[in-house]
Amino acid sequence: MVAVRRIASSYLKPHSALIAMAIFANLIIAATTSVLPFLIEQTVELIFEQKREDVLLILALGALGAQSLRAVTTYVSNVIMNYVGQRMVVAVQTHLFSKLMTADLGWIQQTHSGRFISTFMTDVIRLRDSTAQSIINLSRHLAVLVFLIGYMYYLDWLMAIIATGVIPVAAIFMRRLGRKTRKATNKGLEETGSLSTLILEALGGIRVVKAYGREDAEIKRATGTIALVLEHTMRSVKAKAAAGPITEALTGIGIAAVIGYAGMQAISGAMTSGSFFAFMAAVMLAYQPLKAVANQQTVLQEGVAAASRLFPVLDVEAKIVDGTDSKELKVSDGAISLDRVSFHYDDGTRALDNVTIDVPAGQTVALVGPSGAGKSTILNLVPRFYDVSEGTVSIDGQNLKSVTLTSLRNASALVTQEPFLFDDTIRANIAYGSPDAGQDEIEAAARNAAAHDFILQLSHGYDTHVGEAGLKLSGGQRQRIAIARAMLKNAPILLLDEATSALDTASELQVQKALQTLMRGRTTLVIAHRLSTIMHADNIYVIDHGRVIEQGRHADLIAQGGVYAELSRSQFDRNDDPTPALAGE
Ligand code: ATP
Repeated sequence: MVAVRRIASSYLKPHSALIAMAIFANLIIAATTSVLPFLIEQTVELIFEQKREDVLLILALGALGAQSLRAVTTYVSNVIMNYVGQRMVVAVQTHLFSKLMTADLGWIQQTHSGRFISTFMTDVIRLRDSTAQSIINLSRHLAVLVFLIGYMYYLDWLMAIIATGVIPVAAIFMRRLGRKTRKATNKGLEETGSLSTLILEALGGIRVVKAYGREDAEIKRATGTIALVLEHTMRSVKAKAAAGPITEALTGIGIAAVIGYAGMQAISGAMTSGSFFAFMAAVMLAYQPLKAVANQQTVLQEGVAAASRLFPVLDVEAKIVDGTDSKELKVSDGAISLDRVSFHYDDGTRALDNVTIDVPAGQTVALVGPSGAGKSTILNLVPRFYDVSEGTVSIDGQNLKSVTLTSLRNASALVTQEPFLFDDTIRANIAYGSPDAGQDEIEAAARNAAAHDFILQLSHGYDTHVGEAGLKLSGGQRQRIAIARAMLKNAPILLLDEATSALDTASELQVQKALQTLMRGRTTLVIAHRLSTIMHADNIYVIDHGRVIEQGRHADLIAQGGVYAELSRSQFDRNDDPTPALAGE
C-alpha cells in the first residue's frame, strides 16, 4: 500500500485532471453498459409481450446510441490512460537517471550496470502497465460491475444476492493468486536483470569470449538465464491466467443458481420474462468486468514487485554532496595535501592507512607501487569521488569537505588509463568538459595534445564520429583526444593515471609530448608507469599496502636501494621505449 500511495502521489498526481477525465469516461462506459439489460427488459416486455410498434425505433436507437457513446468513451479513456502511463515512464526514467548520475561512485559500483538497465527498461514498463491497468480495473470495470449489480438488486434483490454470492469466494482465491504473482514477478524481474548483466558483459568482453573460444559457454549461460526468466514469467502468467477460469467457474455456479431460482419464480408467476432476460443479460455482462476486477490483485502485485526494485534506486541519497556552509574552492596555487589519510571502501577493504602526501603548487608528484597498493584510491580522493575515512585532503589549505563539489571538480582535470570517449564526434569529445568552447580553442587544445594532424586526416575531421567507446580510433589517438579534453578544460590541477599498455614508439612519443605540454604549469599528481615521467617528477611516493613506504626523487630512491630501486628494475625499464633503460636488462 505504501508503494501504491507513493506512485499515486509522485507520478499520478500531476495528471490528476486527465485521470479524472478518464475516470469520468469510464463511468459513462459503465452507465452505457448497464443500459443494455434495461433495453433487453424493455424489448421483451414492450415489443414481445405488448407488441408496441411505437417504441421499436426508440429502443433500437437507444441501443445504437448507448453503444456509440460507449465506443467513444472507451477510446478516450484508453488514450488518456496510455498517455498517463507513458508520462509516468518518462518521469520515472528521468528521475532514475538523474539519481544515478548524482549518486556516489561507491554506491554505483556495488551494482552491475546490467541491473540498472533492466530497471530502466523492464521494471519501469511493468510498473506502467500495472498502474494503467489498475486504474482501468478500478474505475471502468469496477463501475460497470457496481452499476450492473445495482441493477440486479433493483430487479430482484434476493436473486442478486444469489448471483453475487460467489464474489467473496473469488476474492479469497484472488488474494492467493496475487501473492503467487508477486513472488514470480519479483524473481522474473531479477532474472531479467541478470540477463541484461550477462549480455552487457558478454558484448563488452566479446574479444575475450572469442579469443578463449567461450562462445558456447556464454550461449549456455545466457540460455540458462533466459530459461529462468521463462520459468518465473510462466509462474506469474499461470497465476494470472488462473484468475479467469476461477471466475468463470464461480460465475457458472452463480448463473446456475440464478436459473434455478428464477425458474421457480417464473413458474410461480412471480417474475416476468422481461426481468428474467434483463437479469441474465446483467449477469453475462458482469462476467467480463468481474474477471478484470478479480485479476486486480495479480495486476497490482506485479506493479508492487516492480516498484520494490525501483524505489530503492530512487531513494538512494548521495553522501558526497555540498554542505549548507560549503564555499567555492579558491585555487591560488593548486597545492594538494593529503594529511594522515586512511580510507576503506564500503565493503570494508582498507585501501589507505595513514597516508600523508604533499603536492606543492605547480610541481609533479608521482605515485608508484605494486598493483593494488592504493594509488588509484589516492587519485580518486582528490576530486572527492570518495570521502576519506580519516584524515583530511585539502587544496590550497581548504579542506575538500568544506568546498562545493562543482568548484572542486572544476579545479582539476582527470586523465584516466583507459580514456573514455563518448559515441559522438571528436569535437564533442574534446569539448565534453567545456561545452561552450569555440572551434579555435578546440583546435588549439588538439594541437597541444598532438592530435590536430591525425584528426584532420579522418574522413570528417573534427566531425568524425568515434564509434562506441571510441573504438574507431587507435589507443594512442584515444589518449591524445582525452589529453586534448583535459587541455581545453585548462584546470590548475591535473590528475593523471598513465596508461600501462605500451604504444608503438611513434605513438608513445606523441602521447608523452602531449602529456608534458599538459603538465606544464599545473600541479600534477600522476600514477606513473613510465620512466620518463618518474625522472621528471619533483617527488615520488612509493605506495605499498596502502602506506607510503618511500619518498624522494628518482636518483635518491635508486641510491637508497630499497623497494623503489627494486620496482624500477622490474617495471619501468620495459615499457619505456623512448627513454634509455634504467637498469641494465
Ligand atoms: P593498480 O596499479 O593495479 O591499478 P592501485 O595501486 O591503483 O592498483 P587501488 O585500485 O587503489 O590500487 O586499490 C587498492 C585496494 O583497494 C586494492 O586492494 C583493491 O582491491 C581495493 N579496491 C579498489 N577499488 C575498490 C572498490 N571499488 N571496492 C572495494 N575495494 C576496492
